[in-house]
Amino acid sequence: MISVTGGAICLGSAFFMSCTMTHAHAIPILQDNYVWCWPAADGASAWVVDPGEAAPVLAHVQARGWQLAGILVTHWHPDHIGGIPALLEAAPCPVIGPAAEADRIPTLTQEVRGGDVLDLPIGRVRVIDVPGHTLGHIAFLLDDWLFCGDTLFCGGCGRLFEGTPEEMLASLTRLADLPADTRVACTHEYTLANLSFAAAVEPNNATLRAFRDHAQALRDQGKPTLPSTLGRERAINPFLRTDQPSVQAAARARAGRSLATQAQVFAEIRGWKDQF
Ligand code: ZN
Ligand code: FE
Repeated sequence: MISVTGGAICLGSAFFMSCTMTHAHAIPILQDNYVWCWPAADGASAWVVDPGEAAPVLAHVQARGWQLAGILVTHWHPDHIGGIPALLEAAPCPVIGPAAEADRIPTLTQEVRGGDVLDLPIGRVRVIDVPGHTLGHIAFLLDDWLFCGDTLFCGGCGRLFEGTPEEMLASLTRLADLPADTRVACTHEYTLANLSFAAAVEPNNATLRAFRDHAQALRDQGKPTLPSTLGRERAINPFLRTDQPSVQAAARARAGRSLATQAQVFAEIRGWKDQF
């Protein structure tokens, strides 16, 4: 048996000795959101990220005999926070989220910002500022898992509702600089649509074509395509590849003029995707 857990490759009987790192898993909610669930080492509790809905989250943790022990929030959008009031009624617990959006998330019990390091019962969590989709958007890094909300998606990125292309590109670059084996646990199952667009930008990207077949097979079996990895995203995601001649040429052709900066390339393909 070969299994990959927490960045370690585990063979046969060595599995139980060497693989003690926790694994997050996805709870599907609403149309295409995932709530990421992180079981604590005590085997009796779990934390969740971006609970846009309460009932499926409660059912999930209760079925496993866990107590909901904490909530992490990446940004204020209702599909990421809508379940919090009902969850707190069922199980009062800390709610940790972006200081810059505290006025829009009245259930926060702890405000955090980029650079903060949190020592939580589930481990040490780093907070990363990633403005763009919203201005106060943050991401959480726990072990080699990146909970990045609506900033980086598999094959794509969030829409620019509040930030500028420059801000979003800087945020994505901050994430892309993390190690290649970092798991990308984003909040939406947008992968197939994103990969269709990515293939329009880079029709000759063989890694992208191969992964698209794999992702399609996963969805055909009703399985999530997530988490992705940063290594994969750097190879297939056009929004992390604005430094590549192929992406720059596609953006230039679309714009019908030369584009002087990576931010201009990024803005062009983000605008193209909005209409794709
Ligand atoms: Zn959002
Ligand atoms: Fe969302």
